[in-house]
Formats: sequence, structure tokens, C-alpha cells
Amino acid sequence: MKSYRKELWFNTKNRVEFINITRDVEEAVKESGVKEGLCLVNAMHITASVFINDDEPGLHEDYKEWLERLAPHEPISAYRHNRTGEDNGDAHLKRQIMGREVVVAITDGKLDFGPWEQIFYGEFDGQRRKRVLIKIIGE
Ligand code: ZN
Repeated sequence: MKSYRKELWFNTKNRVEFINITRDVEEAVKESGVKEGLCLVNAMHITASVFINDDEPGLHEDYKEWLERLAPHEPISAYRHNRTGEDNGDAHLKRQIMGREVVVAITDGKLDFGPWEQIFYGEFDGQRRKRVLIKIIGE
């Protein structure tokens, strides 16, 4: 069995941002040489997500508005977590609902997606260096 590990690094301009990382993951699959296997992609931070959905800008704005209604960033004092001196209580909650990781099957050397599926990095407390882990196993 082959195994391959790679990190992707981000430093987003905005506090909340979604980045399509599908090409980077496809690149990693190519580098791994795996033809049949599994590809795990996970955020390595508890205020960021990796998720799969459509690359449609309207949908991404909908996500941002929906998440902001569920867990508004302000007032900062609304979150017990922020009593630690942090200001990212909302980002922990947003990450939870958007998920930590995705697993995609690799078939014939390619990510075996359903229609319109794309992989995104979801940042909820950005403007600092953060990373995503890609782990690929298979034959
Ligand atoms: Zn925190």
C-alpha cells in the first residue's frame, strides 16, 4: 500500500473566506501515484473547515449569511469562550457545522466526484497562517 502526505497553507485576507482547493488536491493525488484508494482532506485548526459543495458564488454568500445568523461574530461578549481573551467563539461554532474533513474515493487515479462536487477550505478566523492536511492511501 502506498501512502502520501501533504500540507496546504493559507493566510486569508478576510476573517471569513472560502477557497476552492480541488486543483491542489488533484495535484496531490497525481504526486501520490495512487490509482485506487482514499483521499482524506482535513483542516488542522478548530476554527476552519474542509467541505464539499458547488463552486457557485451565490451559494457561498448564502453560507456566509446563514452562518452569521447562526453564530454572529459580534457581540464578542456573547460567547463564554471569549472570556479566555479570544474573540473567535463564533468561528469554533461555524467550523463545527461546516465540518472538519472530507474523504474522497480515488478511482483510476482521479478523485471520484459526484456532479458539481468541489472541495473547499472554509476559513472562519483568518488573517493568519493556517493549514490543511491531505492524506492519501491506496495502491
Ligand atoms: Zn478559540
